[in-house]
Amino acid sequence: MSGLRFRVVEKAFQAKAREVTVPLERPSEYFGKYVFNREKMFKYLPSTVYAKLVDAMDNGAALDRSIADAVADGMKRWAMSLGVTHYTHWFQPLTEGTAEKHDAFVEHDGKGGMMEEFSGKLLVQQEPDASSFPNGGIRNTFEARGYSAWDPSSPVFVVDDTLCIPTVFIAYTGESLDYKAPLLKALSAVNKAAVDVCHYFDPSVKKVFSYLGWEQEYFLVDEGLYAARPDLLLTGRTLMGHEASKNQQLEDHYFGAIPTRVAAFMKDLEIQALELGIPVKTRHNEVAPNQFELAPIYEECNLAVDHNMLIMSLMRKVARTHGFRVLLHEKPFKGVNGSGKHNNWSLGTDTGALLMAPGKTPEENLRFITFIVNTLMAVYRHNGLLKASIMSATNAHRLGANEAPPAIISSFLGTQLSRVLDHLEESTDEQLVSLEGKHGMKLDIPQIPELLIDNTDRNRTSPFAFTGNRFEFRAVGSEANCASAMIALNAAVAEQLTCFKHDVDALMANGVSKESALIQVIRKYIKICKPIRFDGNGYSEEWKEEAAKRGLDCETSCPLIFDNYLTPDSIAMFESTGVMTKVELEARNEVKWETYTKKIQIEARVLGDLAMNHIVPVAIEYQSRLLDNVYKMKGLFAEEEAKRLSEENIAIIKEISERTAYIKEHVDAMVNARKVANKIEGERAKAIAYHDTIAPMLEQIRYHIDKLELIVDDKMWTLPKYRELLFIR
Ligand code: ADP
Ligand code: MG
Repeated sequence: MSGLRFRVVEKAFQAKAREVTVPLERPSEYFGKYVFNREKMFKYLPSTVYAKLVDAMDNGAALDRSIADAVADGMKRWAMSLGVTHYTHWFQPLTEGTAEKHDAFVEHDGKGGMMEEFSGKLLVQQEPDASSFPNGGIRNTFEARGYSAWDPSSPVFVVDDTLCIPTVFIAYTGESLDYKAPLLKALSAVNKAAVDVCHYFDPSVKKVFSYLGWEQEYFLVDEGLYAARPDLLLTGRTLMGHEASKNQQLEDHYFGAIPTRVAAFMKDLEIQALELGIPVKTRHNEVAPNQFELAPIYEECNLAVDHNMLIMSLMRKVARTHGFRVLLHEKPFKGVNGSGKHNNWSLGTDTGALLMAPGKTPEENLRFITFIVNTLMAVYRHNGLLKASIMSATNAHRLGANEAPPAIISSFLGTQLSRVLDHLEESTDEQLVSLEGKHGMKLDIPQIPELLIDNTDRNRTSPFAFTGNRFEFRAVGSEANCASAMIALNAAVAEQLTCFKHDVDALMANGVSKESALIQVIRKYIKICKPIRFDGNGYSEEWKEEAAKRGLDCETSCPLIFDNYLTPDSIAMFESTGVMTKVELEARNEVKWETYTKKIQIEARVLGDLAMNHIVPVAIEYQSRLLDNVYKMKGLFAEEEAKRLSEENIAIIKEISERTAYIKEHVDAMVNARKVANKIEGERAKAIAYHDTIAPMLEQIRYHIDKLELIVDDKMWTLPKYRELLFIR
């Protein structure tokens, strides 16, 4: 078997970069080639239909059934011009991925033949037999039907021979069964609440967009090596493997340049992403060896989420054609930095204002402060929920592990913005607002230099950092659907802005001037949300103590963190914003707990198998060889001499015996613990058992396996080692 390891290592070592065919046109010309965007709509749709569709897209209206046939027909003709034969509703169920069911365009033509057919009905709605998608009990067997419906704010696109229609996925009883439906509701809620608040400053604002610019981190591994690691294949991470030496990591890190094989992959991926209308812009090496990052230009949140889902599947596909496998798991390698997904988030108006960016005038800056402070309030009030929104069995390995944000949500503002908030907090109304002759009201809001955008100090340890014109939510997992975090954040901000308007209006109704009212409420909020502001080192132990004193959520157990979705505050927030009902929240939590359990369950099984089939037999085989040597020594040398010469081997023999005994015993214990846990009623309790008893066993067993890796003859070891997985190009 170990022969296989050497063969795959050698093959990986010799692999050459694949040639990539670069389109002759410039990127701006092939950008969106496979997207039914406005340009193509205009070309393929009658002008009245085009106008109605654009209206539905811009104003978030449902597609008017009367034009659905014409839209479908235009889409079909465009798609067929690209050789497309099938269509699918493309949706985002509560698993971390997308789902699709492909149907051919063909229908009977009534004359014994076939014709290409794609009606408005099929575009607008489909009924995937979806009883196998997680739904947390919303759809019990007698009404196990859901439907998917096109969301016109997400453009239709073509992948290979299939027209993909982004849809929401909803139960017949109305509950959402996916990420997109609540996301659209959250975006609509934040739009409404933010427009109302914008009217204090500019009555002409009609729409507020939520923007998202994600940065996607990932690892690449040679496909041969990947195939020789059943743990990577089955769980997405290595369940064992001793760290390679630190020197190697540093050396590799300092090499800096993107290896040619990887560069070819990236180039290919970028071309295909651009063709799908994903505005990819940045690529670079990440901190860990074989780790990279990809980021597009930010987009409207719903589209950005679709694009992130799309790029993750595109990455998987393109990686294969380059002899790689892409690892999106948050922590594929122990002791090596994990992968996250920074969600750069901001709000902006249809009049072109970025609400999280400082402006040029005192009024613009008051608006800026308004949105910053309300965001901080939302994050403060719902810090536990926001943590729950990014938590998963896989992301749990990364958070709080001295490399990623801790499992406590706090916000970093940088010195300048902190100073401005402190100033506002301490000053009196009279100081801030004074009536000044013919210029009318004068606001003494401190000038906030626009330079702030470029020179905000960076605090890499903060999970929610202000970075000049946006907040960067850094705790999101690399594998996650960004929507989960964006639903919670946008909904919380929507709720908060509504409260703000309520408070300001109440003061104004009592005769307080608008500016004074705004400032009074802001000042009050600055005081309330102070505990969420933290500019220090988020990795430190002191911060954990301090955060607990401040009343921030410090829970670290993943199943318990999910409880945050069901607190009275969270339910009230989601219900008042119309984003999710209590029933939906409860159902979703069932899915979260169940998924958590399944992940640990699979890891436990795989680790058990590998330990018993790969590790223990190899260790014992090596031990036998050592034993053989010890006996031979005895035959050759005098007793004392033989003993002395065999001392080291005997120590290793003992160590192997002890470690293999431990492993066998604990693999058995883990099987029994699973049996006990599996009998527990209720997904929550079961997940807690898996977290508390089984997950720690994985680590304990691994510890001994990793020690064995260090002492067993390298030639006999069957599984590719970290240094091979991580350093071969
Ligand atoms: P970093 O220095 O964190 O790597 P980048 O310049 O690579 O930052 O940008 C990260 C992401 O933030 C990109 O997707 C970018 O488009 C996005 N971004 C920039 N400004 C905004 C904004 N106002 N709102 C949302 N996202 C933004
Ligand atoms: Mg960033």
